[in-house]
Amino acid sequence: MAARAHGSKPKSNGNKNASVVSYDKASFESLDGSCASSESHIISPHPGSRELPPSRDERVDGWLRSTLRTEEPVQPAARASVTGGDLIAAAAAGDLEALRRASPSGVDEGNFDGRTCLHLAASNGRLDVVACLVDELGAATNVVDRWGGTPLDDAVRHSHAEVKEFLEGRGAVRGVSQPGEWDEGADLCDAAVKGDTSRLRRLAQQKQKGSNQADYDGRCALHLAACAGRLDVVKLLVEELGAALDVSDRWKGTPLDDAEREGQEHVAAYLLARGAPRGFRARGSSLARRSRGSLTDLPEELDDVEELDDVDVQVRVTEAWLAALRERKYVEKFDADAEDDASDAAMPLFKPGSVIAESVEFDVDSWEYDVIKLHEQTNGHSLAVVGARLLQRHSLIERCSLDTKVVQNFFAAVEANYGGNPYHNSQHAADVSVGVHLFLTEHGLMETRFSDPVACLAVILAGVVHDFAHPGTTNPHEVKAATKRHKAFGDSGVLEKFHVRAAFALMRDARLNILAPLDHAGYARARRTMVKAILATDLGRHMAYVERLNEMALVEGSRSHSNRVNSSKEQTWTSPLLDPEKCGRDLVAAVALKFADLGHACKRRNLHEEWTARITNEFWTLGERERHLGVAVSPLCDREKDIDVAKSQVGFFSFICLPFFAVVADLVDPDWQLLARLRQNLRYWQNKKNAERWLATAQLQGPLQRPVS
Ligand SMILES: [Zn+2]
Repeated sequence: MAARAHGSKPKSNGNKNASVVSYDKASFESLDGSCASSESHIISPHPGSRELPPSRDERVDGWLRSTLRTEEPVQPAARASVTGGDLIAAAAAGDLEALRRASPSGVDEGNFDGRTCLHLAASNGRLDVVACLVDELGAATNVVDRWGGTPLDDAVRHSHAEVKEFLEGRGAVRGVSQPGEWDEGADLCDAAVKGDTSRLRRLAQQKQKGSNQADYDGRCALHLAACAGRLDVVKLLVEELGAALDVSDRWKGTPLDDAEREGQEHVAAYLLARGAPRGFRARGSSLARRSRGSLTDLPEELDDVEELDDVDVQVRVTEAWLAALRERKYVEKFDADAEDDASDAAMPLFKPGSVIAESVEFDVDSWEYDVIKLHEQTNGHSLAVVGARLLQRHSLIERCSLDTKVVQNFFAAVEANYGGNPYHNSQHAADVSVGVHLFLTEHGLMETRFSDPVACLAVILAGVVHDFAHPGTTNPHEVKAATKRHKAFGDSGVLEKFHVRAAFALMRDARLNILAPLDHAGYARARRTMVKAILATDLGRHMAYVERLNEMALVEGSRSHSNRVNSSKEQTWTSPLLDPEKCGRDLVAAVALKFADLGHACKRRNLHEEWTARITNEFWTLGERERHLGVAVSPLCDREKDIDVAKSQVGFFSFICLPFFAVVADLVDPDWQLLARLRQNLRYWQNKKNAERWLATAQLQGPLQRPVS
C-alpha cells in the first residue's frame, strides 16, 4: 500500500450504516460479479489436491498477463460458461447464452441474501442481461433482497440510467431498505461481539427469547461470541444467561461450528466440554453467505475477504462447475495456455549462486537493518535474501517441510515480478517482511501467537507478497482511470485484492508453490491469514483499524490499566495482543503488517528520507501518467504543484502514522522506542529548514540515488 495517504484528511471506512447489517451492499455486488463468474474460487484451494488443471478468472488472467509479463493488450479469453442451472452465476458473468439455455423456472430464485439474477444484472448495468431476463425469461422485476432492495434500486444506486429506464418501462418499483426491521437479535449479537456484558444481560432480559433471540440470519449471541473467540462472553451466555448450545443459524451452523471454523480453539474446547453439538453447515453456501460474526476482530468488509478466501465456496459449487468444465474441453485448453503464460512470466531470471545469502551481513533482529544497502550488496536480490533469512530464522523450512528449491524459486519469482517502481518494489517488500518479523518477535507475539509454524510462515509471506506486482498507482487512481483491475475488483481495496490474487496465481505453478507441502487445512489457514493481513494494508480501511484498536485500548491498553490501578505497580499489565481471548491472531497479523508497511516513518533519519524521496518520485510519476491519460492528477502527485513534501509528510504523520502508532504502543509497549522516533521524524518535517535542506539534497527528478545524508 502507498506509504502516504492521498489527500490530507484521513478517510474513515465510511460505512457505518452498512455495518449494521455487517457488510455493505455495494461491495457485495462486486463480489457476486467477480466471484460467481470466477472458477478460480471453486476449485479446491489447495493446488496439490486439485483434480483438474487450475482455471481462473479471465480478467485475472488479463492483468496477470499484462502486469507480470508484457503490456500487450489482453486477448479476449474464452468464456467459461454455464451449462447447468446456475443462473445467478450466468447473470453475474453476463453470459446470455447460458441464461437462454437454462431453465427459466428458477429465474426468480435468490441466493442466500435474496439477490436474484436480475439484482445482479441491474447492479452490473448489463442492459442486455436485464432485458433477456425480463423479456425472455419472465423475471419478476419487483423481487426484494434481504435488505428490501429491488433491481431498480440497484440500477439507481449504481447510476445505470439505461437499466433504470428499461426497468421503469416494465413497471418496476423502488423497494424500501431498512435493515433494522429484520434484525431483532442484532443488538444482542453486537453486544456479544463487543463483550459488553452489562448490555448483554439487559438485552437478554428484554428479548422474547432471551439470549437465544436470533438475528435475521438465525445467528444468536452465542454464535457471534464463539466466532470472535470471546470465551468470557461465551461462558456468561451459557452459564448465566442460559444460551442454547444447539441453536442453528440459517446455514444450520451451531456455535461450535463457528468456533472451529474460526480457529477459536479455546472456545471450541469449552463448548465441546459442555456437550455442544456440531451442526449441519451447508458446505459451500457461503458463495452468498456472509457470516456476520466470522471476522469480527477485523474491522473490514467481510465480502472482500471471503471473495478471496472462501474455503467453503469450493465444495458446493465445485460439483456443478466442475461438471460444466469437464464438458467443455476448450476450457481446459484455455487453462493450460493461461497457466503456461503465467509460469513463463513468473519464472525468474534467478541464477542460484548469484546471491550468497550466508555471506551477506544482515541482521534481521535489529531495527537498524538497511534493506537498501542489502539490495546493493546482493545485486538486487534483497527480497530473496531476506525471505530465505526469515524462514531460516524461524526454522520454517524444517517445521513446515518446505522444499528448498521451490522456496528459492518462489522468492526469486516474487522478486522478479515486483515491478520496478521507485517505492513499491521488492526492496519495500523485503523491508516490510523484516518489519513484520521484528514487530512480532520484539513484543513476544511470535513465540506466543505465531508459535504454530503455519501461522508464522503465513504472516512472513504476507509481508513478502503484500504489494506483489504493484503497478505504481494508488487505489483512487485505479478507480478514476477505470483500470482492468478496478473493473474486476470493484471500488475498494483494488490493489490489495490484486496483490493477493496475483501472488496466489503465481503459486499455482508447482515450481513456485511454496505452500504446497502444507496439508489442506494448513494451506487454507495460511491463505486466510495472508489475505486478511494484506487487505488490511488498504489505507482506505486505516481509520477503521485505528478505531477498532482504540476500542480495545480503552479496556485493555496500558494507559487505561495504569489509570485503574492508580499508580500502584503491583498488578502488572500485559499486552492484550498476547491473549487469544482478547485479540484474534489475524488481527495481530494485520497490525504487524500495517505497522511494517508504514514502518519507514520510524526509521532512522537517512533511511526515512530516502523512502520519502522514493514515494515522492512514485507519486510524481503517477501524476505524469495521469496527465497523459487525461484524468485528473491525484493529490500529492503533481510534480509542478505538490512540491511541499514536508507539508504532506506532516499530514501523513499526523493523520495516518501517529494515530496508529500511538494506539499500537498503548497495546504492546507504552515505552515503545519506535513511537519516540516517529515523533522525532515528525518534528523534523515540521522544521522548515530541514524541509528545505531535504528538498535540496533528495534525488527527486532523475534516477534514484540515495540522498546525501
Ligand atoms: Zn506496502
